[in-house]
Amino acid sequence: MKTAILGGGLTGLTLARLLHEAGQEVVVLEAEEEYGGLCRSRTEQGFTFDCGGSHIIFSRDEEVLAFMRRMIAANEQRNTRNTRIFYQGKYVKYPFENGLYDLPPDDRFICINGFVRNLIAVEKGEVAKPQNFREWITYIFGPGIADCYMVPYNEKIWKYPTEKMSYHWVDGRIPRPPVEDIIKSAIGIETEGYTHQAVFSYPLDGGIEALVRAIARPVEPCIRTGFTVTSVRRSGKTWTIGNGAETIAADRLICTIPLQHLLPCLEGVPPEVTEACRALVCNALICVNVGVQGTLPPVSWMYIPDKELGMTNRISFPSHFSAHAAPKGCSSVLAEITHQPGDPASAMTDEELVAEVTGMLERMGICTADRIVCTSVRRQPFAYVVYDLAYQKNIAIVKDYCTSAGIPLVGRFAQFEYLNMDGVIRSAFDFIARETGSKE
Ligand SMILES: Cc1cc2nc3c(=O)[nH]c(=O)nc-3n(C[C@H](O)[C@H](O)[C@H](O)COP(=O)(O)OP(=O)(O)OC[C@H]3O[C@@H](n4cnc5c(N)ncnc54)[C@H](O)[C@@H]3O)c2cc1C
Repeated sequence: MKTAILGGGLTGLTLARLLHEAGQEVVVLEAEEEYGGLCRSRTEQGFTFDCGGSHIIFSRDEEVLAFMRRMIAANEQRNTRNTRIFYQGKYVKYPFENGLYDLPPDDRFICINGFVRNLIAVEKGEVAKPQNFREWITYIFGPGIADCYMVPYNEKIWKYPTEKMSYHWVDGRIPRPPVEDIIKSAIGIETEGYTHQAVFSYPLDGGIEALVRAIARPVEPCIRTGFTVTSVRRSGKTWTIGNGAETIAADRLICTIPLQHLLPCLEGVPPEVTEACRALVCNALICVNVGVQGTLPPVSWMYIPDKELGMTNRISFPSHFSAHAAPKGCSSVLAEITHQPGDPASAMTDEELVAEVTGMLERMGICTADRIVCTSVRRQPFAYVVYDLAYQKNIAIVKDYCTSAGIPLVGRFAQFEYLNMDGVIRSAFDFIARETGSKE
């Protein structure tokens, strides 16, 4: 049995490894000249940056976390999270509701007063159940925290109005704080939120790509890079996958590439399925990498809700994740700018983007232009799934069609879900477990 896996990102490579370990023949078809997808990294002038945005290794899923840590083995640096929100010039502890004491007193009052009043109203049944993400934010956190941080930050990262987003996905992703924690945080007693991420790992050498390289090692000879899948046909029990110049035959197919790339490869897709796929929303990402002489604030990463400061929604400090991520005496910052097609960021040149980010770093007091020793820009067309209000209807149409066509979907943009590395590895584990189960 030969399996063709479309896409050589973390999902495709994990599937390939697991099938290979089960004694099966696999071929991974990857469009880019290098495998790894969003989990690629580059080292230039001694600075290592992740190309698909800053990545860290963490999970609530102990089996998957153990797998990831086993893969990087001795190439691991363990770190304690020290994350901040840049709010009106202050470094506020993350999550925001655990950092209320860091706010200016007036804002602290607005947040705690709004939280308590809202909680009483919710408990008395006076607040209607939320219908969208914006209403959910206010329902859980109250209007103060919503207006000061949650709404501005979420609109900055999603590039989508929160009232036009669904909230079915938030449980477990956006921390729901215990009331005691909010009160403690407002009066200045230390609390921790989002604790499963409080300690995280990162490869000492090679950036996050070291993880996919370690996973891919036993299957490297089975990876075809530079193979952009443009056609997928089934004839009886054989799949034929083409790139316009050659075809590859396989007994089975697994798709890990974005649905928006898969559907045009198929023949006879009904118009309503094409339309549902077209209506799925995601955003793209620009990473601006900055190498700096000297030190930077001792922060792991920082959220920037303020639109006035610039386009960047988050900055990370890779040189704090790994002692080898920057040359001796240097540090690094990775700025992330999400965008939708047609947004101003999508039309900006690399030089303009670097100027946008370095200007912001200077205004934030993080680093002055004279300390910058290198910069680079990376672009990712598929970064985040955006759960708009029509998402559940549209994704069901597309998934039903792919299932009826016999094409399993595994991975972030194949399942079209907000899955982190642990989530896509879990999907790969579960897919293989189901397959093995069905054979027994
Ligand atoms: C900004 C950002 C930060 C993140 N941070 C974290 C983090 O800290 N921790 C964490 O656990 N997760 C993080 N993630 C999530 C993580 O990157 C993903 O879960 C994971 O990389 C998804 O892997 P994948 O293989 O499903 O998709 P991808 O990495 O997108 O791989 C898909 C592959 O398919 C290929 N492809 C596409 N079209 C074709 C075609 N027609 N033919 C052949 N190949 C094709 C692509 O080139 C790509 O290599 C982050 C993601 C983003 C965007």
